[in-house]
Amino acid sequence: MAPNKKPYQNFLDNLRHAAKAISLAPSALEKLETPEAIHEFQVAFERDNGERVIVPGYRVQHNSARGPYKGGIRFHPEADLDEVKALAALMSLKCAVVNIPMGGGKGGVTVNPKELSHSELERMSRAYFRIGTEKGVFGVNRDVPAPDVYTTPEIMAWMMDEHEKILGYKSPGVITGKPLELGGSLGRSYATSQGGFYILQNYLQSIGKKPSDITVAIQGFGNAGSYFAEMAQEAGCKVRAVSDSQGGLMHHEGGFAVEKLHKYKQEGGSLRGNFCEGDTCDIKKMEEEKVTMLSNEELLQLDVDVLVLAALDGVVHRENAEKIQAKAILELANGPVTAEADAMLEKRNIDVLPDILANAGGVTVSYFEWVQNRSGDVWEEEYVNSKLKKIMDHAFDDLIQIKRKYPNASYRQAAFILGMERITNAMGLRGQI
Ligand code: GLU
Repeated sequence: MAPNKKPYQNFLDNLRHAAKAISLAPSALEKLETPEAIHEFQVAFERDNGERVIVPGYRVQHNSARGPYKGGIRFHPEADLDEVKALAALMSLKCAVVNIPMGGGKGGVTVNPKELSHSELERMSRAYFRIGTEKGVFGVNRDVPAPDVYTTPEIMAWMMDEHEKILGYKSPGVITGKPLELGGSLGRSYATSQGGFYILQNYLQSIGKKPSDITVAIQGFGNAGSYFAEMAQEAGCKVRAVSDSQGGLMHHEGGFAVEKLHKYKQEGGSLRGNFCEGDTCDIKKMEEEKVTMLSNEELLQLDVDVLVLAALDGVVHRENAEKIQAKAILELANGPVTAEADAMLEKRNIDVLPDILANAGGVTVSYFEWVQNRSGDVWEEEYVNSKLKKIMDHAFDDLIQIKRKYPNASYRQAAFILGMERITNAMGLRGQI
């Protein structure tokens, strides 16, 4: 874990920094500093051996001035209230930055889902959503969850089903990121990466570069990282290095063929596992494939044009920020750069394309899913992606306008300013401030 990991304080630091730049009224700032509601659940479920266990669950509803609360649910052993609060607040800003009519919320259960059987996972997921439904927390016009770390379309299906059983009628729009068969949207599975890739294209254009001019390193080869690698390769970027939780691989020259990376992962269980067992690595195979092993920490410090952070939060912090050599960072994960590290990178002129812009493609297509569910319509994939592109392009342009108005603002600060202005305008119109 990163030194001094304090997610909510991190959020407050960023919020106050941006509020200062626009001289936001203290009453408005105070509202944004405080979630509208915090729900704590005792999630009780049965293990396969009949034992009854209780794990802590949370749903934080940060702000709903612009629409129903929106944001994922994560299952993680380190998920706690402080983290969920921070992530809920980031969702309010994220939805505002891309200008979709939703507020911000987040859920979490402190559990290691890898230690649960499939049926235990189902019982726990249903129990979490049952409590939230019975307490009136979730609802299609109230609070609309989605997947986040270690939660999947299948889990969304269980949760929707539990909700509908209690309601006694269908309400697929209560949750997004569902399987296609149950009202999921085409394009949702890769939407986070697609949105991030549109932002990268906009950014490169703004600095006079083309995708084929650049090298990238990607930390994280889960859903977001692997789709992003494919898009980067297709556009001509050189994918120099990738990693997963077991470690990373760097290509000696040029970049990886992403199909190979999928093959490595499949055959070896992890990227590294394809070449090494414990500390013993197959040197011959590595040479043939032009591959070097590297740790996650080494990957972060590679001299590439763009470092893509697609793993967990807090991975770039004050102890390693000075060692970053990439020219720019794109945040596909939530909160991967701490506020302290952000300030250090800013001083060194390393641009950070922040999570609340760069990974907003996921929630944007979630919003499309919600619209489709409420209207009973089914959109074609090309239509989803063309609408997503327009939204991401607009958000980037809006950010550039803010940067023109506040020339000292970093991308993160500009995104906070944009989100904050939109939310406080909505609060003002409602007479809340
Ligand atoms: N968990 C994703 C995020 O952090 C998606 C949220 C959603 O689709 O509502 O943006």
